[in-house]
Amino acid sequence: MGDHALALGTAWAGSVQAAGFIALPRRELTAALVERAGVLLDAASGTGDPAAAGAVGRWLVEAHFTHPSTLEHTLTVLGPALVRAGPDRGPAVLAALARGYAAALQERTRAEQERITAAAFVARTAAEQARWASEARFGALFADAAIGIAIVTAAGEIVEVNRALCEMFGRPADEVLHRSVDVYIPADDHEHRQTLRAMQAGELEHARLERPYAHAGGETIWTDIVLSLVRAPDGAPRFIVAMIADVTERHRLETSLRHQAEHDPLTGLPNRTLFFERLEAALEAGRHVGVCYLDVDDLKAVNDTLGHDVGDHVLQTLARRLAAEVGPGIGSGARAGAGGSGHLVARMAGDEFVVLVERPADRPDPAEPLRVAQRALDVVRRPVVSGPHRIVVSASVGVVEREDSASGSGELEKAADLMKAADTTLHWAKKDGRNRVARFDAERHRAAVARFELSARMPDALEAGEFVLDYQPLVRLTDQRLVGVEALVRWDPPGGDRIGPDVFIPLAEESGLIVPLGRWVLSEACRQGVRWREEHPDTQLFVSVNLAARQVREPGIVDVVASVLAESGWPAHALQLELTESDLMGTTGEPLDALPALAAMGVRIAIDDFGTGYSNLAYLRTLPVHALKLAGQFVTRPFATGMPDASGEDGHDGVDLEVLALLIELAHTLGLSVTAEVVETAVQLERLRKLGCDTGQGWYFAPPVPPAAVPALFSGPVGPT
Ligand code: C2E
Ligand code: MG
Ligand code: MG
Repeated sequence: MGDHALALGTAWAGSVQAAGFIALPRRELTAALVERAGVLLDAASGTGDPAAAGAVGRWLVEAHFTHPSTLEHTLTVLGPALVRAGPDRGPAVLAALARGYAAALQERTRAEQERITAAAFVARTAAEQARWASEARFGALFADAAIGIAIVTAAGEIVEVNRALCEMFGRPADEVLHRSVDVYIPADDHEHRQTLRAMQAGELEHARLERPYAHAGGETIWTDIVLSLVRAPDGAPRFIVAMIADVTERHRLETSLRHQAEHDPLTGLPNRTLFFERLEAALEAGRHVGVCYLDVDDLKAVNDTLGHDVGDHVLQTLARRLAAEVGPGIGSGARAGAGGSGHLVARMAGDEFVVLVERPADRPDPAEPLRVAQRALDVVRRPVVSGPHRIVVSASVGVVEREDSASGSGELEKAADLMKAADTTLHWAKKDGRNRVARFDAERHRAAVARFELSARMPDALEAGEFVLDYQPLVRLTDQRLVGVEALVRWDPPGGDRIGPDVFIPLAEESGLIVPLGRWVLSEACRQGVRWREEHPDTQLFVSVNLAARQVREPGIVDVVASVLAESGWPAHALQLELTESDLMGTTGEPLDALPALAAMGVRIAIDDFGTGYSNLAYLRTLPVHALKLAGQFVTRPFATGMPDASGEDGHDGVDLEVLALLIELAHTLGLSVTAEVVETAVQLERLRKLGCDTGQGWYFAPPVPPAAVPALFSGPVGPT
């Protein structure tokens, strides 16, 4: 650390000395600043106390390093070194230093103001003298004070000013004296004017205000002004003593700290803090508010392939374009500055930007947010050139407006709700294929919330035993005998309506709950099979269980099936697993590894809803599959007219029938057994029978029933004969 602190402290001393008069000899100054530089470096690198930085700031004031540009020079020299020493803590150490400095300076000023006020009161008792300055004790204080002082009569005439005040404003005394104080607190500053009048009327003893003034040199100075009323012995208002401190430096510092706190360092755009502030203010003011929430597609790919520097450059370019082309407002006469129709463009996080589209309450333009979103999309799509690379990215945008209602109960009035809706909408844009704008849709949102709530309840429901299995008979078509049952899961929430698998199975697949739920279904179906066989030892029957895509892709699926069979004692050959065509294939397009292992165990594999996918029948020969379950539409459509013998006036039915016949024949050639789903009528049954279909399932035979209703079907034909 030593060398580092020495170099930094020396540079600091040089800069401070260059800035203005320093009473300390150079050697002492350097030694003092080297020591403090060490303290600051330690605080920034994390080995020292961060609060120490504030103390260094105070020390600067105590040591009288209070020339107006001292702080600026200090921050310029120390800033880069401290941030290098600690990229995370460096900026905070710097801010603490500045705050310590500003606070000490303010305290010093206040102390001086108090001394002067006290002296002014002493002067009052002594005084029918015309001139304050001639009162001995006050006179010295008045002349030497580092802060500006003006004495104003109750009528508002400026009768005394000191040297510090003249320097502060860069004006000679005679330019100020005998003018009305109203010149310095003009009428359009209503609040301060009122304060002044109240003091002149004797209704107010003290006041404090902060105001900008124009220095004679043209620049703006910020002043902190303390006003004290001095009364005549009879109590009537006599003078107002104004003590004025130059706080330009602190003001600038506060502004710059605020700027830092409200802007994103990479792109220079407003950050989420400022965005939320503005959004809340706009909502509060009752303005029309639209939010375009934009997420760059594929920025991760840019970072991963070309590096983070290129990724950063892309973000900076997009930020600049958005601010320039979307920020000013677009379309129907909206221009920057013209009626304040500009839009705030902010960076929310990583590759997320947001545009706040504001319109005055009396000038709505409902098309504006979508127009802005579309323009933002175009802006992002234009290629970004970064060194040798020409990069093209796209974006997804979610658009939501205050007038949208999320729950059917009023508008989106809270910033947080509005942003949540915008985020949801952005995800729709992603889900619908990216590179697009999605508009918030209350209906879709309600459905999504309902799905989410349902999904969130499922784990407890499984734990609490709210899922039940019904069983639907699988019937041999030749004699309508029961050969098996398909287990179909249902959700029976206590006190609620039964929920069907079409609703909750997709949710369980998304959340992953399908894995434990599917395992429960499998083991419950096998245990039920064992119970039936124990009660009716002569029945031969297999149990068919549906497996979801996610379940068969779980690495442990083969072990799960094996252990369920072992635990329940149900024979493998009496278990059929139903998978859909698309589930047979892994994500790579290869058949699933688990299939041969399951088949080797002796388990039957059936392809569920066959005909809804695109599998190549010939290809099935290479897979260990035992049965096809023809999708419902295959079975119902050829018979839909109710005229099975007519080949159909439009010829359509006849063609479907031929396809069905071919399908069954081909399946048989491949050694697969065929089950028809959704058999609802005698006509359908008769036709399927003729075509040589092996088994059927459907309401004609029986709907899915609770397990207790199954044994009644063991003997005799199922369904009307
Ligand atoms: P699926 O495996 O194709 O099941 C057949 C569906 O057709 C069942 O609907 C059944 O009630 C219905 N059905 C039976 N006969 C007829 C009929 O004659 N006409 C009509 N219109 N429909 C009939 P369900 O029980 O609502 O099940 C729907 C789907 O949910 C099932 O289709 C299956 O894909 C899935 N599913 C059900 N249980 C489970 C399960 O335990 N695990 C998994 N992964 N999926 C399941
Ligand atoms: Mg099924
Ligand atoms: Mg099916």
